[in-house]
Amino acid sequence: MRSASRRDFVKGLLTGASALVIGFDPVERSWVTEAHAKSGKHAKLQVPNFDGQLITDSAGVAEYSEDFGKFIHKTPRAVLLPASVNDVVKAVKFCRKHSIPIVGRGEGHSSGGQSLVENGLVIDMSVMNQIVSISSTSATVEAGVTLKELLAASIPLGARPPVVTGYVGLTVGGVLSMGGVGPQSYRFGAIVDNVLELEVVTGTGDLKKCSLTKNPLLFQAVVGGVGQFGIIVRAKLKMTSAKPLARNYLIVYFDLPTLFTDANILMSGRVDALYLRILPDGAGGWLYAINCAKYYTPDAPPDDNVVLAGLHFPPPALTVVDMPAFAFDAFADDVVFSELDAAGLFRQIPHVWADVFLPASKIQSFVEQTLPSLTPEDLGPDGGFILLYPVKNLPSALAFRLPHEQQVYLFDILTSVGASADIPGRLAKTRAVYEAARAQGGTLYPIGSTPMSRQDWIRHYGPLYPALVLAKLLFDPDRILTPGVDIF
Ligand SMILES: Cc1cc2nc3c(=O)[nH]c(=O)nc-3n(C[C@H](O)[C@H](O)[C@H](O)COP(=O)(O)OP(=O)(O)OC[C@H]3O[C@@H](n4cnc5c(N)ncnc54)[C@H](O)[C@@H]3O)c2cc1C
Repeated sequence: MRSASRRDFVKGLLTGASALVIGFDPVERSWVTEAHAKSGKHAKLQVPNFDGQLITDSAGVAEYSEDFGKFIHKTPRAVLLPASVNDVVKAVKFCRKHSIPIVGRGEGHSSGGQSLVENGLVIDMSVMNQIVSISSTSATVEAGVTLKELLAASIPLGARPPVVTGYVGLTVGGVLSMGGVGPQSYRFGAIVDNVLELEVVTGTGDLKKCSLTKNPLLFQAVVGGVGQFGIIVRAKLKMTSAKPLARNYLIVYFDLPTLFTDANILMSGRVDALYLRILPDGAGGWLYAINCAKYYTPDAPPDDNVVLAGLHFPPPALTVVDMPAFAFDAFADDVVFSELDAAGLFRQIPHVWADVFLPASKIQSFVEQTLPSLTPEDLGPDGGFILLYPVKNLPSALAFRLPHEQQVYLFDILTSVGASADIPGRLAKTRAVYEAARAQGGTLYPIGSTPMSRQDWIRHYGPLYPALVLAKLLFDPDRILTPGVDIF
């Protein structure tokens, strides 16, 4: 779901009423409005003429001082709502010249300060949200298009991205900067494995096209590179054929070994989408669930006997529902999180999320080892759960790091916590989960709240780190991009 309050706020700005910025005061390091300038106290450098809007008033920038985690607060000096690629180019060149840090922002759904910047410029890419073209093999979109918008436009045309995230209210630019995994990942890898070409404004203010064959170092660094090397303005994504309907199988289990045995059977290619959940059972134990789906056309519905053959669950544990394919893809947005949001338990409260990848060979033992250390408070009182996505590890040299096995699992502890919660204690737990995963050959998925030092990042990237240092030197030599994540 898009952040409704910020959306309305942005709309208000685009229709008119914010203070006009006419300069930048290099001494005070602040933006000068007409009213300030009249006071005569401010030295003034000419700010570029933007096609879009530059927000500098305190209420305006405050909207961008938190992310989904809501426990880190960084207030930018200004926010750009770009109306063109040229706006992004001008903003980056200006900020580079005056050493102003920049962060690109999608929906701000990362939860560890990744999209925040203190005293810098936020470029809100969510307003650049045009779908440029859709064909049966590719779609070209601006970076602020959400996966939900892309699916809504493409499924009626018979096309869809091979992989979307489980929650589709995320921007293409945001997920390409992180990885992007979802129910289809067990077959098709991450979203970063399904991008053909990018247009990027580098930290030097240069607009460049890149792909695995054109400017490959830039491409490999930007894709999964946590916003360190450039602002993605446009992406060409792979598309595959879309069927209009989905048959959704929800199966509940009472023990882990059977859950994984059946998941492995289903992953032989019987279903198009699959994920696992672990939930508190309300009596101090756990329930386990597989949620999987087969997309289909009305003339060829799936044969349940074939899909479910040889699985080990007791019959009452199965629920089968037919729905439009879009409804399956947007279920987390339109049902799960929409209900939490209506109850004030989604965007309104802090989230300390732990997100790690494990080799598939270690996932069961890792879950068995981790569950006893979790208390009900660790998941939060309101709908917290553990989410597991199996992911095909496609060979690549991208900044997106996965464990060294052909099949891996994303393991997410998705908590919601009350405002009075012990945030440092929760952060220490995310860190412990990361350390335990690392000990089993796991890696960090950097979307969440796990605290990371420079040394941790060096360890995270391993032999790839020197290539990323070179990319940083080439594409963001003044280190103005996304400084809150201490990678370099
Ligand atoms: C409810 C919920 C469900 C989620 N479900 C999933 C899921 O199923 N699968 C999954 O993989 N992840 C999931 N996530 C995590 C999410 O994918 C990442 O946090 C993602 O980066 C968020 O996208 P965003 O558009 O909000 O980006 P932001 O959080 O705004 O940005 C993320 C990072 O990317 C950078 N960035 C953003 N846009 C650009 C750009 N155009 N150019 C360069 N850098 C940019 C930012 O600076 C920041 O460092 C979920 C998060 C939430 C809150």
